[in-house]
Order: sequence, then structure tokens, then C-alpha cells
Amino acid sequence: MTRAVVIGGGIVGLTAGLALRQAGAEVIVCEQADEIRAAGASLGVWSNALAVFATLGLHDRVQDIGKPSEMYFHDNHGKIIRPDGFPAGVGDYLLVHRAKLNKLVADAIGAENIRLGARFGRYEEHDGGVTAQFADGTEIEADLLIGADGAYSVVREQLVPGAAAREHVGHHAWRAVLPPEVATAPGDVMVVGRNDSRGGYARTYDGGVFWLLSQFNAPELTGTKKEQCLLRARDLNDGNWNPLLEELIEATPEEAILHNQIMVVPPLPRWTSRRVALAGDSAHAMSPHITAGASLGVEDAALLARYFADDPEHALARYEADRIPHYEHVATLSGAVEKSASPAEFAQNYAAFSHWMTSQQPVAGRELVSAR
Ligand SMILES: Cc1cc2nc3c(=O)[nH]c(=O)nc-3n(C[C@H](O)[C@H](O)[C@H](O)COP(=O)(O)OP(=O)(O)OC[C@H]3O[C@@H](n4cnc5c(N)ncnc54)[C@H](O)[C@@H]3O)c2cc1C
Repeated sequence: MTRAVVIGGGIVGLTAGLALRQAGAEVIVCEQADEIRAAGASLGVWSNALAVFATLGLHDRVQDIGKPSEMYFHDNHGKIIRPDGFPAGVGDYLLVHRAKLNKLVADAIGAENIRLGARFGRYEEHDGGVTAQFADGTEIEADLLIGADGAYSVVREQLVPGAAAREHVGHHAWRAVLPPEVATAPGDVMVVGRNDSRGGYARTYDGGVFWLLSQFNAPELTGTKKEQCLLRARDLNDGNWNPLLEELIEATPEEAILHNQIMVVPPLPRWTSRRVALAGDSAHAMSPHITAGASLGVEDAALLARYFADDPEHALARYEADRIPHYEHVATLSGAVEKSASPAEFAQNYAAFSHWMTSQQPVAGRELVSAR
């Protein structure tokens, strides 16, 4: 039986672990933290990733922690923008609780197949396999090592030296979740506003609210996180057509606001060696203005397992040959969204990206979209 060691117990590592197990491998997922958790609040999961969860037998459990939502945009005056030329449902996604999603995939893998508090250091490839070495001096022997250790990947550092994650200069994001006893919203609203600011709010599965804000080309940040958010929320609310986002920000404790300087991984010349492969943010941490990094990473995990099940000997080479051009196209479409000159253009380019992502079937026999 093939032994696979997965580095990283985020959503991509966990999905890779489960998919590889179901493909017949003996898997151990190694996570540096002492528990399976997730940085961040809510996560928009698109149909390509939902189809993966369905094929892994998790359809109902994922739906249970999600709220069906639709991504469409208003401009800064409140006008709804409907992109042209796309089928109905192009903006449909499921808003899930990040930590609950990770936990339910971890439960499906089984605690006995997950090692917590295991900080990976480096690997050695040799004729018989690959040895993963950990900070505590322990080692794991495997046939395959998957680096799903996120944007600051240690696996990538060794596999592709010189490809450190970089700041997406001037791009910041702020977000928080408010429980139903603190806030509710009558509907979901996303706005593309002035000064390269975007944001809004969406209802969560338990009746609370997730709000978010982001800005390209942000000036130097000053003040508290709450002040930074209120400043940008005003870019979305010309004429005071909808004050709810500002009210939600006011109702959020400062310490509950998560702020990120956005980091991106540069395009990589390779994703694999003979026995090592990258998946998820370790390979392609990208600007979240297309809200798709996790959904795409879940797809990486499923494809890796699919190639492995079909043809273990050539699986990694086939995986790399699939993924590199795929992400070149992601970068092109995502770049078009980022460069949009108006809210209408942003909405159009965003729909073009999500339509493309959710309708891809690049691999023979790939059923990723069949479970929709
Ligand atoms: C503001 C924002 C909003 C976003 N919204 C969306 C969205 O709506 N939809 C969407 O699809 N995507 C979204 N994304 C992208 C998404 O968050 C990421 O693409 C996704 O979380 C990446 O998952 P991952 O498992 O690859 O990496 P991570 O979630 O970073 O997991 C990596 C794991 O590896 C572990 N690890 C790291 N180093 C080591 C080591 N040396 N040894 C052992 N373990 C290690 C870490 O502790 C962590 O648990 C958003 C991103 C941001 C910043």
C-alpha cells in the first residue's frame, strides 16, 4: 500500500488526506498546531469544491454548516449590477464556517491518521521513498509527500527555492463574524466601491452575519482596525443608501476584526519532484478578490488523488502538467478582475472567472462538477 504523508492540516491538506485515503493510500496528515483549526471566519465554497466534498461523501455535512448564497455586486450608489452573458446561478456559492469545515473533514479522515503538534522541517528524497523530518526530531517514511502547508510553505522553500510568498502591495482585507444574538441582516450585500474598496456582508448558516472589506492600493494604514474599516465602508455607501455595514463594524469588538496584508505566491516553474507535490496555497496563494483560493485548492487535492488512483507512477507529473497551465489561466482571469476600471467591469470579470472555474472539466474521467 502506498504511504502518503501530508504536511498541513488546513482545508487543502485535510481534503488531500481524505481523497488519498479513499484512493487506497495509507495517509498521515501532519499539522504543526495542537488542534485542527482555521484562521479566518467564513469561507465561500464554490461548486467545484462542493462537488469534491460530495464525491468524498461529505455533501450533507458540508451543506449543514453552510448558507446558500449568491455573489452579485452593487455599485457605491447601491445600484445592482447584473453581468451579461452568463447562465443563472453563476454567482452561487455556499458560505461555510471555516473551522467547522476543517473539523468535519478531519473527522472523516480519523484522528488516528492525523498527527498534531508535528512541525515539519525538511524532507529527503531517496530511491526507496521520501523521509519527512520534524522539528521534534522524529521522521516519517513515505512514498509520497504532499506540501499543503500554506502560503509560507516550508515544503515549497525546499522544492522551489527563491519562491517566497510576497506582499500583494497595498492590498488589505478585514473581516469578522457576528453571532445572531449580536447582529442579523435582512439580506446579503456586496459592493464594489470607490478608492478600490470592496466589501459587504452575508448571512451565516446560524443566522449571524459575516462582514468583510478589502482595498487594493490602500494608503498607509492608520488608526484602529475599526477606524480603518469605517473609512473604507464609506467608499461603499455614497448617499447613505445602506448604513448596515458601518453598523456591523461598529458592533464588532476591535479584537474580533481579522486584518490581513494579502500575501501571494509567485507563479512556480514546478509543483512536484519525483515524490513531492504542492497543493493549495503552498502552490498558489493568490489575491482573495476572486474568493476562490480554497475552492481551487480543494480541487488540487481531488485531482492529485484522482491521478494517483489512475496511474501512481505518473501521477505527480500528470498533476503538475494539469495544474500549471490551469493556474496561469486563473492568474489571467484574476488579473482582469483586479484591473477593472468600474464596478460594472469588476462584476463582469468576476462572473467570467467564477463561470470558468465552476465549469472546468480538464481531466478525462473527472467528475468534479457532476455532483452539483
Ligand atoms: C481575506 C481572505 C478571504 C478569502 N476568502 C475565500 C473564499 O471566500 N473562498 C475561497 O475559496 N478562498 C478564500 N480565501 C483563500 C483561502 O483562505 C485559502 O486559499 C485557503 O485557506 C488555503 O488553504 P490551505 O489548506 O492551502 O492553507 P492553510 O489554510 O494556510 O493551511 C496550511 C496548514 O499548514 C500548517 N502548516 C504550516 N507550516 C507547517 C509546518 N512546517 N508543519 C506542519 N504544518 C504546517 C498550518 O498550521 C495550517 O494549518 C480567502 C483568503 C483571504 C486572505
